[in-house]
Amino acid sequence: MTAHDNLIVPTPEGATRMLARYFDEEGLSGETLLNAVDLILQRTDVFLDDALAVTKATNGFESACAAGCGFCCHTLVSVSPPEAFFIARHIETAFEPEARDALKARVIAYAERTAGMDGAQRYIGRQACPFLREGDWFCGLHTARPLVCRAMHSGSLSDCKRAYETRDATVPAPTMAVFFENTKAYISAYVSALRPRGLKVYPVELAGALATIWREPDAMARWLNGDDLFDDVRLEAREVTRTVASQK
Ligand code: SF4
Ligand code: SF4
Repeated sequence: MTAHDNLIVPTPEGATRMLARYFDEEGLSGETLLNAVDLILQRTDVFLDDALAVTKATNGFESACAAGCGFCCHTLVSVSPPEAFFIARHIETAFEPEARDALKARVIAYAERTAGMDGAQRYIGRQACPFLREGDWFCGLHTARPLVCRAMHSGSLSDCKRAYETRDATVPAPTMAVFFENTKAYISAYVSALRPRGLKVYPVELAGALATIWREPDAMARWLNGDDLFDDVRLEAREVTRTVASQK
């Protein structure tokens, strides 16, 4: 039996159909786009809870991840533009003005400092994600964190710690391939459902995309109108944080 047998694993085709139908019925606007991201994140959390239960039962996989563990949060974070807009809205609404302004300054400084660095360079250089809180290493985005972050589950805290302490991005984090199927499906669905509507959709680096959204006037309206806003922070291929040793 594989981990897939007891799970309904999202596929790119199914996720695209769902998203395309949603925009056909509800129309495409800033509001419906953000609602779609919210819906996908809710489905993702349910899927990952199920996937963790199934992989525990069938493969004996136990996630070592916990709030406050952030060795893995020292790398490039790849998102789709809809997720970047969702996170930008979250930052505007979930923080008090002083904390929000400080966070935005931190994100912009990080984006400038790390522009052009790939995931391995950030990992080896211990460039902490700007949302990793200093002191307690909690994720400052929490409910709005990206799909790629939700999917990352390691079965070995000691391997994660060893990779971080030795700055060795090649130490594999043992994980299960099925956790990433959901992320792949929805990242693909954003592209396949939105490109035919004339939008420029491709993987982007999170901090750089947020800096773009805050810098460009009317960023959401322009992007929905087909402007290619994120070309400077476009990722040609999905960047990998560290080597993961995944089982099927
Ligand atoms: S993937 Fe590793 S470093 Fe990241 S939260 Fe899980 S155990 Fe900690
Ligand atoms: S967004 Fe949160 S979970 Fe993702 S890398 Fe940053 S601190 Fe870690």
